[in-house]
Amino acid sequence: QWIYLNGEYVTKEDAKVSVYDHGFLYGDGIFEGIRIYGGNIFKCKEHLDRLYDSAKSIMLDIPLTQDEMQEALVETISRNEMRDGYIRLIVSRGPGNLGLDPKRCPAAWVIIIVEQLAIYSEEAYKNGLVSVSVSQRRNIPDALNPKIKSLNYLNNILVKIQANLAGVGEAIMLNSQGYVAEGSSDNIFIIKKGVVYTPPCYVGALEGITRAAIMELCAKLGYTLKEEPFTLHDVYVADEVFFTGTAAEVIAVREVDGRKIGSGQAGPITTRLLQEFRSIVTVDGVQ
Ligand code: PMP
Repeated sequence: QWIYLNGEYVTKEDAKVSVYDHGFLYGDGIFEGIRIYGGNIFKCKEHLDRLYDSAKSIMLDIPLTQDEMQEALVETISRNEMRDGYIRLIVSRGPGNLGLDPKRCPAAWVIIIVEQLAIYSEEAYKNGLVSVSVSQRRNIPDALNPKIKSLNYLNNILVKIQANLAGVGEAIMLNSQGYVAEGSSDNIFIIKKGVVYTPPCYVGALEGITRAAIMELCAKLGYTLKEEPFTLHDVYVADEVFFTGTAAEVIAVREVDGRKIGSGQAGPITTRLLQEFRSIVTVDGVQ
């Protein structure tokens, strides 16, 4: 396995980061999780746009242009002979001193890791996940705007811990006003009477690339889609619920907080969206 580390290709054993790296010391950095399907980087431009927007927002200089970054991704995939897998692209503020001042970090570090990935079984895609809502709240848009895909994932990790304690794969996080925001690393959708709803990102959600792809598919397939805030009550009484994310793709939810959702299996619209999603992933990408 070859890992891209600041322009060099090193083995997993040699891919090391300084203990003075501010990504490590303070979570000062950003990242992207990207899929490779059939040798294509799915939605490469969208992921890189989001990465460079996150960088701009936190005043982090990425030492590569977007085109150079894309070339580095392609080269890393090719060196690893990866046709289907997952890319983790990390840009950290880089090594500095123990103070948190980013001025003391002369250069950002860029790391690209590619790996195999399988998070849910086919059975889970067919029958849906059991999920719960958790007490951890999504930070609302402020300096720690959920739109910035930063290395500060403690909020999400606390959700994941609550999901683990409940024995479920993904949990639902509300914002401080009680509106449904997203999962620990997935966006959420509900369907009621044929209409598809997802929370607007200002409620406290990442602008997911898979979320955007599903919104486009809804338009293509003729489903009405509304970006509207909703509550747990709306989730409980929905006909269908599903999560979207780069790793999870489109995964149905069959139960939330002990309430059966719809028929208690993946619903028809969710299933159709998953099928359509899987049919576009190999064509909509960068070779
Ligand atoms: N929300 C959060 C907090 C995430 O970390 C992710 C995964 N990147 C998502 C949503 C889903 O976004 P995407 O479809 O771009 O992977």
